[in-house]
Amino acid sequence: MSQAQIIDGKVTAERLRAEVAKEVAALKAQHGLQPGLAVVLVGEDPASQVYVRSKGEHSKAAGMHSVTHRLPADVSEDELLGLVRQLNADPAIHGILVQLPLPKGLDEKAIIETIDPNKDVDGLHVVNAGRLAQGLPSLVPCTPLGCMTMLRETLGDLSGKRAVVIGRSVLVGKPVAQLLLQADCTVTVAHSRTQDLAAVCREADILVAAVGRPQMVKADWIKPGATVIDVGINRVPFRDPVKAAEGKTKLVGDVAYKEALAVAGHITPVPGGVGLMTVACLLQNTVTAAKRIAGVA
Ligand code: NDP
Repeated sequence: MSQAQIIDGKVTAERLRAEVAKEVAALKAQHGLQPGLAVVLVGEDPASQVYVRSKGEHSKAAGMHSVTHRLPADVSEDELLGLVRQLNADPAIHGILVQLPLPKGLDEKAIIETIDPNKDVDGLHVVNAGRLAQGLPSLVPCTPLGCMTMLRETLGDLSGKRAVVIGRSVLVGKPVAQLLLQADCTVTVAHSRTQDLAAVCREADILVAAVGRPQMVKADWIKPGATVIDVGINRVPFRDPVKAAEGKTKLVGDVAYKEALAVAGHITPVPGGVGLMTVACLLQNTVTAAKRIAGVA
């Protein structure tokens, strides 16, 4: 039985980060422009701390100006908004990312809407979502951008392909669907109310799963030869009772990976797939923002 080709997030992300570093060096040399990224972390959520550290390290490694602001979980909304406004006005900063989720009591929407849309490298501001929906240049959320980079590298031209996206969140499902539409795919967006989801998925040449349900997509939901992009990151207990008893967990995607390997043409693993692209795409977005702000083509 033939095995799907694995789309390696590590290799793709490394390549993208190297391209970004090259572009940063050229911007510095030719225009005296050093893209700058500010990451704001509120509170001490362990996963957020890991993500923020990685964003800081990779942006520095790419030659960017990089600052991290750490605020206590009980920071007032006014103080946080004040920091965002200060970063909006800072000419050395071209990208602002407020790490989500924020601690309870802080209004995420109000904070995101205060970020200058030109510096919104997470692509979550309504202006950027609206520009994306209208097919105008925008800053696109990093994970969807990572999905598209992997699809283009794997399949080349996506025009005319049937794409099914499971999930309609503002962070992943909707922007992925918009980007696939822009790439001239015929797009279906499925969600929790979709009838006969398995049959809908079986129509897909490209299947993007962004659900948050461990291994929900089974092999017989996949059209033979399809390209499967698994965005899901789910922590589940080990089957091994000893490890499970120790409270150890492992990461799995939204796709039943092992059985899917026998049907799909290409597939992203979890871990080692889309997740690794997100930071690389954040760097790419920061360069895009810096060039637009500075008026550099
Ligand atoms: P959300 O919870 O915001 O959205 C989940 C979507 O899945 C919703 O649209 C929901 O439908 C749909 N859904 C839920 N249950 C079902 C079901 N049984 N059948 C069909 N559709 C269903 O999650 P996110 O979009 O933020 O994230 C999705 C996954 O991607 C998560 O596992 C998350 O951890 C991961 N993720 C990974 C990233 C990465 O870097 N790789 C980055 C961001 C997220 P409805 O709208 O009807 O409720």
